[in-house]
Amino acid sequence: MALVVQKYGGSSVGDARSVKRVAKRIAEAKRAGNDVVVVVSAMGDTTDELLDLAQQITPLPPQRELDILLTAGERISMSLLAMAITNLGVKAKSYTGQQAGLITDAVHGRARIVDVVPHRIRETLNKGQVAIVAGFQGVTQATNDVTTLGRGGSDTTAVALAAGLGADVCEIYTDVDGVFTADPRIVPAARKIEQVSYEEMLELAACGAKVLALRSVEYARRYGVPVHVRSSFSAHDGTRVVAAEKKENAMEAPIISGVAHDRSESKITVIGVPDVPGMAARIFEVVAGAGANIDMIVQNVSAAATGLTDISFTLPDGDGPATMAALTAVQGELGFDSLQFDDQIGKLSLVGAGMKSHPGVSARLFGALRDAGINIEMISTSEIRISVVTRADSLDDAVRAVHTAFELDGVDGEAVVYAGTGR
Ligand code: ADP
Ligand code: ASP
Ligand code: MG
Repeated sequence: MALVVQKYGGSSVGDARSVKRVAKRIAEAKRAGNDVVVVVSAMGDTTDELLDLAQQITPLPPQRELDILLTAGERISMSLLAMAITNLGVKAKSYTGQQAGLITDAVHGRARIVDVVPHRIRETLNKGQVAIVAGFQGVTQATNDVTTLGRGGSDTTAVALAAGLGADVCEIYTDVDGVFTADPRIVPAARKIEQVSYEEMLELAACGAKVLALRSVEYARRYGVPVHVRSSFSAHDGTRVVAAEKKENAMEAPIISGVAHDRSESKITVIGVPDVPGMAARIFEVVAGAGANIDMIVQNVSAAATGLTDISFTLPDGDGPATMAALTAVQGELGFDSLQFDDQIGKLSLVGAGMKSHPGVSARLFGALRDAGINIEMISTSEIRISVVTRADSLDDAVRAVHTAFELDGVDGEAVVYAGTGR
């Protein structure tokens, strides 16, 4: 008998009919003799709708209240799912993150799981029942307040429970058949990846491939949790996320695993910065003080005549206003000319472990973008990734051009997107 943790994303439980459909699948897994723990996300776009609602009340809602609001979405889906499963003659009980023993730090909106004490889940399994857990939420011991884990956080709940319970597998059910060489919504010719290493998946997730939340992959790697990403709408085998040394046919692995894209960042340029020692340090102290997580940084060569330079960096859209305000406040002290804010950028990332040992990957990437007439604004690299910033409106074309240039296009039909709005 296996212990299986199954996670169903919002697009898999968009309406009552889908909840019933998913319930059938869960009941089948239970009847097949497995112990089953289910993590469920809020129905459809509920989380976004709740966020919109809060925005209509106030532009800056208190984080504690926002977390209480958002956790309501998962409470709705978990209880409906428990009812639907019970209707099928299989006993099921639903639990909030707090009841399931997901303990987090106190950082509202992006709390980290610090402990998992799933006593009630074990009790439920021991009674032969299915345990349903609300995704994306926990409780902080400091104040006993509920917290959320950040967008896409139900994936992390599932992996953390799988690790805490010693599950045999963590199945992530979504609206596509697995992890593809690019987002199937943008590249219909994308191919499903059979196996991907934790490291490659980390890079893909960090670069915007939201099919798995970044922290869930970090967690899975740390605890060696076997993850299987698959569709709740088909019976197809999905993508296995495994340790690099466990990958089959590792020697024949492709150089490139995939192309990721991200539209959620903005660019700030500090114009006319005096090119003297310590200036970058001061600027980024101020940026850090505003709580921004920066990604790429580019500093131009200073103009000989003026001794002035420009520094550009990218950061999450949401960190933009606070960072602009903090930098504006120190303009007199630092002596730069002006600031520019640009939220119309997109980032494309090419990811692959084989890049380490293959020259010419960058040249081919830049060549593909040139042939597609796409301008590159910034570049950054890691051992297994190259990222470029482009205009937001040319990002989709860029992804398709690069996907084709690296011969990633599949031959056996289009990648299917079964549901979801992609929001
Ligand atoms: P869920 O509601 O199940 O959590 P998400 O919307 O969070 O689903 O994640 C699934 C979506 O991730 C897919 O519909 C797809 O548009 C997007 N996606 C982005 N990159 C990839 C990729 N490389 N492979 C598969 N899906 C991807
Ligand atoms: N409902 C949350 C979100 O939309 C968590 C999740 O879906 O994983 O971000
Ligand atoms: Mg998700």
